[in-house]
Amino acid sequence: MAGVIMHVQGAKSQIRTPMDLVAALRRPIVELLPEVSEGGVLGSLVLLDEADGLTDSALEVAADYTFALFDREADPATSWLPKWAWQRDEQVERAVFQATVQTGDQKVYTASRLFLIEHPAGFSRDLIDERNTNPRYAGAKAVAEYVDIPRDRSHRGSADGDSWWWPCPACRWPMRVKERSVFCSYSPHEARFEIKGYDLGQPQLRKVSTVRLRTPKALPVTGAGCLDPAVWRFITVPGLPEVVLQQLESEELGIRVTPWPIMDTFDALVTAPGFAPWTVDVKDHVDARRIIDEPPAARHVLVPKYRRNQIPQLSRALPDKTFWTVESFMKHVRTVVGRGDAQ
Ligand SMILES: [Zn+2]
Repeated sequence: MAGVIMHVQGAKSQIRTPMDLVAALRRPIVELLPEVSEGGVLGSLVLLDEADGLTDSALEVAADYTFALFDREADPATSWLPKWAWQRDEQVERAVFQATVQTGDQKVYTASRLFLIEHPAGFSRDLIDERNTNPRYAGAKAVAEYVDIPRDRSHRGSADGDSWWWPCPACRWPMRVKERSVFCSYSPHEARFEIKGYDLGQPQLRKVSTVRLRTPKALPVTGAGCLDPAVWRFITVPGLPEVVLQQLESEELGIRVTPWPIMDTFDALVTAPGFAPWTVDVKDHVDARRIIDEPPAARHVLVPKYRRNQIPQLSRALPDKTFWTVESFMKHVRTVVGRGDAQ
């Protein structure tokens, strides 16, 4: 790889040896590749942390782009690389929901999907109970596997052999534990804590971010499980704003939200009597280019609040779509339906 970079950059390359390249990977990528990252969101990206592990922000960008490097499932690297590195979001969706889609039962599909969004981790026994008994998930099937809480997401306690984990207050997936720091790998969730000590042998957290989030309690690793990172990243994380959108349903105004219509062209269909339906896609990508390069099918494209600064760029690039934050779209629909405006 050092050779490739030297070849591309020619005489002005700062890279002379593979060790130079490794050192450069611990610094913002703009220093290594000024031409490609100038002005973009990628310039400040750092690929390796102090322990030479992949940083969470690198993982975030990689989840959006690395699939393009692989020749589908035929690539031998897919047997040892994590799924998020070579499967794109749609592939993960397909792999998880294929069997459910084939049965063609919309209710089973919606309930199974909702369960993965609202329960990405927990005690294995509780997860099964919840799926089988809570009417909210009636008909849900076990479409994705829950694996043991990964080592980098657990904390060795004070007593012999006890280990703990903490669910992110935003997405409920196990937060990363790095020495005393505990944080969600998905940086927009802004869940950042530190271990302040022990109470009756149970480690306690203190919040270090300024956002309003509750501080979670430590849960024992034994008997707990969580979704694979690819399922969490491509189904749970983008699903959170999709679930918020469901609050748009209103008896009074006759607004209905059908999430994930099974032929799966859109993320949701919003209807109200006397109005043409709104087709909706929710997009959550670090780089707006990913949305521009593959324009969504729906007419209305929603981004989470933390991506609202992408809206001007998206509107310029795709003028036939209308871009909103989830909240501004909900407000818009309530207003026009409430006033009885014709579309
Ligand atoms: Zn989170």
